[in-house]
Amino acid sequence: MAESPYPMLSVEAALAAVLAQASPLPPVTISARQALGYVLAADIRAGEPLPPFPASVKDGYAVIAADGPGTYPLVGEVTAGRMADFTVTPGTVAYVTTGAPMPSGADAVVMVEQTEKLWARNGPAHIDIRAQVRAGDDVRPVGVDVAAGELVLEAGTRLGPAEIGLLATAGVTEALVYPRPKVAVLSTGDELVEPGSPLGPGQIRDSNRAMLIAAIQAVGGDAVDLGISGDSQSSLEASVQRGLANADVLLTSGGVSMGDLDLIKPLLEHAGQVHFGRVRMKPGKPITFATTANAGGDHTCLVFGLPGNPVSSLVTFYLFAVPAIRALAGHPDPHLRRVQARLSQPLPLDPTRPEYHRATLRWDAAANGFVADSTGSQSSSRLLSMRTANALLELPEREGELPAGSIVGALLIG
Ligand code: AMP
Ligand code: MG
Repeated sequence: MAESPYPMLSVEAALAAVLAQASPLPPVTISARQALGYVLAADIRAGEPLPPFPASVKDGYAVIAADGPGTYPLVGEVTAGRMADFTVTPGTVAYVTTGAPMPSGADAVVMVEQTEKLWARNGPAHIDIRAQVRAGDDVRPVGVDVAAGELVLEAGTRLGPAEIGLLATAGVTEALVYPRPKVAVLSTGDELVEPGSPLGPGQIRDSNRAMLIAAIQAVGGDAVDLGISGDSQSSLEASVQRGLANADVLLTSGGVSMGDLDLIKPLLEHAGQVHFGRVRMKPGKPITFATTANAGGDHTCLVFGLPGNPVSSLVTFYLFAVPAIRALAGHPDPHLRRVQARLSQPLPLDPTRPEYHRATLRWDAAANGFVADSTGSQSSSRLLSMRTANALLELPEREGELPAGSIVGALLIG
């Protein structure tokens, strides 16, 4: 019986081997407006306090709290964006809007709902103040939201909408971030045709490339499309070299099993260093990982030889390529998120390999936990088993089945 020469690694050992090769890419400066989804490579500190002046929290009247309830003449108005050119003296009040700088002299705000404006025929209007407030009520002191010099965002933070808002608040228009990894995708197989082509005898459509390009985009990589290569040494070599020259990560699919035309492993042995060529998992056992360096040694490419079956290729992409892409993109914790889930039905187990069973998780409010519904038949060629899947259930290698109600680890992929 033909035996693969590659030792069979556990998923944990294989992932550790991948992450040992995946360090953050050299940082680049980009416009803060373009920075959504990037990871910061440097701390951001506030240059100025926020608010930069004591500001009213409400629409209402700026008062001296010690004056207490009563009727007082209105000495002026301050709206947001203007400064008062008067002072609130004891026994007077001023109108203020939300966000307006407090006029000097005043130490609290009474919201408009607790006042009434009394119009005078001549002379200033008077305001009936009906609430007793304390000094500081409804006033945001200088720097209460962000102090001057305060650490606003730490290096390693992923920039989402709130973080982009904080950059704007801090007056930061450019940010030092880790770039998006360039991830090249190559489909291999004489049988493959483009989705738009009619199928000739023996042909199937290339599903992996479109799927992997979408998966790369979803995880924040920049996809580079290398097309389809037939199963010839020269064509594969030319396509692989194009990927190695241009990308941080190269994904090939197909050609890593034990057939005569499975040429990827020998090709990668030749081009660089193969770190593993077999992993004890189902699906995806023949997943292969290599690194290559260019002649100058300044550019390393991580290469994943993904299996050809569409499900195997997507499952191994999630388990190994996603953490690698996240590590290159500067995420301090590149791993997939793991939760616990309860099986809604019994699931068969594989006696020799841990299985990554595709499932849809939903929240069960009554049980206060996630419930996992299997996506059905788990054949590795059946891409429908990935449809609506938002998790990979980590099923142990064992005889028999796991009964309904069992709690298992679930890696989130959605
Ligand atoms: P291989 O690993 O090349 O032997 O491929 C394993 C199985 O996956 C075969 O049935 C291939 O036809 C199929 N396959 C390989 N690449 C693709 C692809 N890009 N899209 C769809 N099926 C594929
Ligand atoms: Mg093939």
